[in-house]
Amino acid sequence: MIRYALICEASHTFESWFADSATYDKQVARGLVTCPVCGSAKVEKAIMAPSLGRGGKARDVIETPSKPEESEPKPESPPKPESPPQKSPVAIISEQERELRTKLKQLRDHLIQNADYVGGKFPEEARRMHYGEIEHRSIYGEASPDDAKSLHEEGIEFHPLPRLPDERN
Ligand SMILES: [Zn+2]
Repeated sequence: MIRYALICEASHTFESWFADSATYDKQVARGLVTCPVCGSAKVEKAIMAPSLGRGGKARDVIETPSKPEESEPKPESPPKPESPPQKSPVAIISEQERELRTKLKQLRDHLIQNADYVGGKFPEEARRMHYGEIEHRSIYGEASPDDAKSLHEEGIEFHPLPRLPDERN
């Protein structure tokens, strides 16, 4: 077997195998050797260019410049959590809490109905009762933190009036 480099009339080059040179001659003469590109039967042996020859028609090795790998798009950094919107306190009130709240309200209502409102005189009135100057009775009023502290120090028992969450003052 022999391999020939061939070229057609349109200058397409290709290679073909033949049993021997005589076979090649016969096949070309009978138009059996055709260009694989254009189908032309007018082919002849191409002048073999030394593959490494200088100035020859050596095929240029086309170096496909390797594309610099495109850096993968950086995954966008997760958006910074924006400061949460102002929240107002909310609660889901359980049945138990509802009951407690009702009891607080009842206690409060009871106190208010059955006690004398003494307002800012509360510390004074409480003291007078405590020291036996006046009869014990239920009173309610206001006491500053300082008053409350000294009343406690004097051993005067009192309780903060329960406040309900929905009351503003
Ligand atoms: Zn051709």
